[in-house]
Amino acid sequence: MKPVIALVGRPNVGKSTLFNRLTRTRDAIVADFPGLTRDRQYGDGKLGERPYTVVDTGGIGESEEGIDRPMTDQARQAVGEADAVLFLVDGRAGLTAADEQVAMELRKLPKPVFLVVNKTDGLDPETAMADFYALGLTDLFPIAAAHGRGVRAMVGAVLEGFPDAEDEEAVPEDPDTVRVAVLGRPNVGKSTLINRILGEERVIVYDHAGTTRDSIEVPFTRQPKDGGDPRDYVLIDTAGIRRRGKVHETVEKFSVIKALQAVEAAQVVVLVVDARDGITDQDLHLIGYVLEAGRALVVAVNKWDGLEPDHRQWVKTELERRLHFVPWVKVHFISALHGTGVGDLFGYVERAWESAFLKLGSNALTRMLQDITHSHPPPRSGRFRAKLRYAHLGGSNPPTVVIHGNRTESLPNSYQRYLENRFRELLKIEGSPIRLELKSGD
Ligand code: GDP
Ligand code: GDP
Repeated sequence: MKPVIALVGRPNVGKSTLFNRLTRTRDAIVADFPGLTRDRQYGDGKLGERPYTVVDTGGIGESEEGIDRPMTDQARQAVGEADAVLFLVDGRAGLTAADEQVAMELRKLPKPVFLVVNKTDGLDPETAMADFYALGLTDLFPIAAAHGRGVRAMVGAVLEGFPDAEDEEAVPEDPDTVRVAVLGRPNVGKSTLINRILGEERVIVYDHAGTTRDSIEVPFTRQPKDGGDPRDYVLIDTAGIRRRGKVHETVEKFSVIKALQAVEAAQVVVLVVDARDGITDQDLHLIGYVLEAGRALVVAVNKWDGLEPDHRQWVKTELERRLHFVPWVKVHFISALHGTGVGDLFGYVERAWESAFLKLGSNALTRMLQDITHSHPPPRSGRFRAKLRYAHLGGSNPPTVVIHGNRTESLPNSYQRYLENRFRELLKIEGSPIRLELKSGD
């Protein structure tokens, strides 16, 4: 799994500057999603081939009353869930009382903490760091986040402590097993839905649930209604169906990190939203993570029972308005409590999964490309016109269409979107993003 790195530090020490630098290398999906608010607190990055997740914990307070506990609860939660902590200080401002308080708290953590001295541009690094040795942290790194100086070396040192993806024992995944995560804010009905699914008559739950870091993986088999072959699933549960007692219910904090890890571990995400609240900003953030990871997505609108017709209409209008940027996402109305619509949910999950793992030969895909470009050729750009010659499938989850040609870099975004939409239509991709990769031969 990707290591999670938390950034902690006073306001103005350069956390967002460093965050942006650390998350810049993420692969871009061809389509950008207008209307999707980005959460700039969580991001993925890579150093060489090594991926990681960065969390900006949002600063530590400096108010007088808060001086004993300068870290906010939110920062403390993120730090608690991270694998490594970067404690950022300002090499120009020097050491402050808040820095000392935070260092005291961080020193007690059973995880690596790196003291990162920022804004050392134009300073002698040793002099800039001298003050900060007093904090009692042993790993010090001088950087200049704004210019990138020292950042690679620092990240390299942080990642050194974690196993390489290749070193990790690769668990061979059954290619025919559908890995589905149930995601959503607290109290939307995730546990109720999961219990409902696993309690279905046509479902056999195997008794070897595995636990990964923060979620439970439950393997099960489901017999389709039409009498077809049974299908194997692994359900990735972040809600904790086997939650010990119900005491946590009211105090359960939503963990974005857990959600991100579940998205990473899944192929299809079922996002549960509460019909009583409609679709919230936090739901949209979750959708953003799912899209960034390229996973397939089904939205389950829960608690559809006992709602007034007016309210139902309001929910539908809201969904249409706020999900217009992902018109391919299937929205399904259910009542986990009464079981209504839960069986049908599998149809959507399955279709999304089939789309995500679509198989098609290069000849058929190239023919499609020719039809698409024939009916609407790439526009001229200056004296040149891009030529799209052939296509092949370059990957799954999301399905990736690799297009080879000449001067493909000159293709305007609007034409790329046209290609994407046409391929989506012709390949009958439902409930999954699709990615285009353009290669140029000259
Ligand atoms: P945050 O409040 O901790 O997120 O800090 P920001 O990233 O917003 O940075 C605060 C200020 O410090 C901004 O004006 C940045 O341009 C500046 N800054 C950040 N990194 C550096 C650096 O490496 N060198 C210098 N000289 N200024 C920096
Ligand atoms: P989680 O925190 O997302 O796992 O949510 P829970 O499954 O614990 O459900 C939170 C509350 O919503 C509980 O009181 C459930 O009984 C209730 N609930 C769940 N699904 C439904 C539903 O379909 N309809 C109604 N009316 N209530 C529901």
